[in-house]
Amino acid sequence: MGMTRTPLIAGNWKMNLDHLQAVALVQKLHWSLKDASHEFDDVDVTVFPPFTDLRSVQTLVDADKIPFGLGAQDLSIHDSGAYTGEVSGEFLAKLGCGSVIVGHSERREYHAETDEVVAAKTRAAVKHGLVPVICVGETSEDLEKHGASAVPVAQLETILDGLASDSEIVVAYEPVWAIGSGQAATPEQAQEVCQKLRDVIRVSLGDEAADATRVLYGGSVKSGNIASFMREPDIDGALVGGGSLKVDEFSAIVRFQK
Ligand code: PGA
Repeated sequence: MGMTRTPLIAGNWKMNLDHLQAVALVQKLHWSLKDASHEFDDVDVTVFPPFTDLRSVQTLVDADKIPFGLGAQDLSIHDSGAYTGEVSGEFLAKLGCGSVIVGHSERREYHAETDEVVAAKTRAAVKHGLVPVICVGETSEDLEKHGASAVPVAQLETILDGLASDSEIVVAYEPVWAIGSGQAATPEQAQEVCQKLRDVIRVSLGDEAADATRVLYGGSVKSGNIASFMREPDIDGALVGGGSLKVDEFSAIVRFQK
């Protein structure tokens, strides 16, 4: 307790923007945030473009010394080999990615990813020096049946089982019903679940990890509601989908004032 964690604003672009559009967005974001650099010095910003954009964004960020982290949206559980269409953590790390999203609800829904698969992806990320941004969250059905926290807590317990306690991770609580719906969770409800997720980290990985790990809220985060989430003690940032594709909106989210 009492440890300060640098807030993280993460932009999950999903399957949007080709590599030319990606370069344009990152340039505009940088210009927009540069003027406010004194305000965003103490916030980490990471963008998660589609695979095909990573090389272009990496080159730009490197050349212009843009202080954004670069992450991928998924990775293979394998290192290399006969896995057509897969991309390994090793390749992503080589490309300059520092992190990777695992277990997003859209991967769980459309690619039938189970907690066991997400656990394997988490271990693959850590193995290659990538910080996994582990997404957990309940559907509206789960919410009705079990309340908000039971499903994300169980998901995280399975995913962290057996993970080395010194593994750097980020956890994102994303209620499935809040994603892309315009209907965010209340800050109180998000705080309650994020606190329970931090307890899971404490039991699985120990006190140091629990105090250092950033727990994000995701699901219809906007410039108008970011501050209310950031005021909560166990919410250390946001995973932003739709709002990360618009320059003014995303830079306003990054410049949140508590
Ligand atoms: P949203 O998506 O901000 O568009 O609700 C969040 C996410 O899926 O990570």
